[in-house]
Amino acid sequence: MDIAALLLPYDLTVSTVSRLDGYASINYKLTTAEGTFVLKHYQDPSEYDLIRAEDLLLSQVKHLVAFAVPGAAFPLQKLEDGTFTRVIPFIKGQLLADANRSDALLFNLGGCIARLHLAWQEMRSAPVEARKLFWDMEYTLLNLPKMGFITDPRDRKLVHYFYDLFAHHILPRQNGLRHSLLHGDLNDNNILVEGDLVTGFIDFGDLTYSPLIYEVAIALAYIILAEPEQPFEKAAHVLKGFHQQVPLTREEVQLLYYLIPARLCVSVCNSAEAKSRGVDTEYILISERPAWNFLQRWISINPLWLNHFFCQQLGLPFEFPDIDQLLAQRTRLAGKSLGLSYTSPIYLTGGAFQYLYDQTGNTYLDAYNNIPQVGHAHPRTVQCLSNQVRTLNTNTRYLYLEWVRCAEMLTERLPTQLCKVFFVNSGSAASDVAIRMARLHTERHSIAILEHGYHGNSISGIDISSYKFDGKGGPGKPDHIISLPLPNLYRGKFSNAQAYVDDAIQTLSHEIGQGNYPAAFIAEPISGCGGQVPLPPGYLPQLQAFLEQHRVLTILDEVQTGFGRLGSHYWGFEMQGVVPDILVLGKPMGNGHPVAAVVTTEAIADSFANGMEFFSSFGGNPVSCAVASEVMAIISDEGLQENAKVVGAYLLDKLRALQSLHPQIGDVRGQGLFIGVEFVNLEGHPHARLAEEVKEAMKARFILLGTDGPDQNVIKIKPPLCFNTANATHLVEQLGQVLRELNP
Ligand code: PMP
Repeated sequence: MDIAALLLPYDLTVSTVSRLDGYASINYKLTTAEGTFVLKHYQDPSEYDLIRAEDLLLSQVKHLVAFAVPGAAFPLQKLEDGTFTRVIPFIKGQLLADANRSDALLFNLGGCIARLHLAWQEMRSAPVEARKLFWDMEYTLLNLPKMGFITDPRDRKLVHYFYDLFAHHILPRQNGLRHSLLHGDLNDNNILVEGDLVTGFIDFGDLTYSPLIYEVAIALAYIILAEPEQPFEKAAHVLKGFHQQVPLTREEVQLLYYLIPARLCVSVCNSAEAKSRGVDTEYILISERPAWNFLQRWISINPLWLNHFFCQQLGLPFEFPDIDQLLAQRTRLAGKSLGLSYTSPIYLTGGAFQYLYDQTGNTYLDAYNNIPQVGHAHPRTVQCLSNQVRTLNTNTRYLYLEWVRCAEMLTERLPTQLCKVFFVNSGSAASDVAIRMARLHTERHSIAILEHGYHGNSISGIDISSYKFDGKGGPGKPDHIISLPLPNLYRGKFSNAQAYVDDAIQTLSHEIGQGNYPAAFIAEPISGCGGQVPLPPGYLPQLQAFLEQHRVLTILDEVQTGFGRLGSHYWGFEMQGVVPDILVLGKPMGNGHPVAAVVTTEAIADSFANGMEFFSSFGGNPVSCAVASEVMAIISDEGLQENAKVVGAYLLDKLRALQSLHPQIGDVRGQGLFIGVEFVNLEGHPHARLAEEVKEAMKARFILLGTDGPDQNVIKIKPPLCFNTANATHLVEQLGQVLRELNP
């Protein structure tokens, strides 16, 4: 409809008309003899009652506040086609988006938001209250299906995570929160300012009746977006201004951590949906890029830190959890063999992706924990676990889909001969089953192992783990164990793979010559406890050829190396170009949920079926299987193996560059995101103290690492696979600083 027709019902002497941006209506700016106005042409007839209600509320409220709001200038006009128009005064002023956001201005903004609430505190509006709007934070989760429009699975993960937090922390409290009429979209393009003063709020198109704190959260979200340098300090001014007029409760303040990102998730979901429809207007996409940066950054903010900061700014009480009390309780209850890392232990209260949060609000970059393979609190694993627990959890004596799906996904990722799957709940249980299988299949008892290896904490696990039986408190090597040197090319008996192969064959031949035939040889493709020592190329193929000749099975323990961590390969054995007879899996398989597995050939599985049933109460239950399947799917969907390859190679490069500056870094080795940095003194001997000091100093810089190796002089880096290049850069920069400080 042309503008002249739209203007007919209004008694205005119009001189100029120009189009304005608009979302729910087509907007025109009118310059007239009577003043400047905005004509809004609403396309959806069903909105009439709502817009009339908005008009009514604004015309009442405009007399009660010291800043301008677009109260009605004329009655609404219905057109023949059901569409309708509305003329409101044009409010002049500078957009907050374009203004210098001084502290005083932000404080005043908070005050004005509170004043708006106070002004319409007594007012109610049935059409507004009945409204179900995607942008009303009360209906945040209506936007959840729109996540499907987000094309990058890593972005989708972020949004999913924050929606999940909303569902978990906000929804159950929502009805109990104090409600109010809200502007609903106090972003910095809807706020007009002059100097340090707020002169008006515009665009009440998202007017809702919702929890009051949502109004504050929305305003803060946009302030934080606009102020990446000092986001929280700036936000605090708004909060303080509000709190002075309308005191907030501690509970309301504590919800902000979840509400602020939820708002931006709604924004990016709607942008994604609009993009999928081919709508690509700048107006809709205006806040997308900073919003993504913001969401990524929010993950690294400990909720306790933000809660404490805001409470402190408002003078509200706040107490951090007490570490001393917890430590004392644990010490009372735990045996002394239960260890704690670091000279002063870390009390963890949460975590997300590659970050962990402690009880005083710190955030640690987790470069050490390889169990949460796809990241701490991955929303898909969280959802999968809770869905499956809710649906069915039973044992393998019944048929259910999840077992089959998981076994299928696992075997699809393995060579065809590894086709029989046995689920258990720990790497220890898996290595134990693997040993039993090998013994039954070969009818032999001895096991060949590599020095410094670790395979489990059960009796048989300790028996086959030189790391334990040769270590502190260990009973020494059992008679039925044949120990072979770890083929460590940097520090070991020999400096090439061939010499290690020859040595192993010689030892094994000697044992066999004495009638001591081993059932199996067990090793890790990269020895974790041995200090991140990769088996040198060619080692396993040659050794396995010998083992096969003598009917000795190869068991590979991929508890640490499996599931894409090595980047170049999904499994460590692929690096060596061999296929084990039995594969032991665990740790990352359930992203922290206890699920592990043994996979073997049909012939070995048949030998294992000697009449004794294999049963594990929890092993292979629907929940474990569902989450393990989900982990494999996430690794594929998010390209985490590729990420491990790219980020791992980058990290290795950076570490090697650091090595060239510091002779104390004797060796940098590993593959993908499974890396070891070996510390030595100037004579090249293991320098355990330095490794320990580095680990402690990195903790003080909020980066988690571990030490290991027979001499405890190797720093282990094995983060969740979502670790990114920025994290890697930060790690190496901090490590460099630590080394400079420790060795001036
Ligand atoms: N094998 C290897 C290589 C391991 O690293 C571990 C655990 N560190 C295990 C087996 C034992 O697994 P779990 O602790 O789940 O029993």
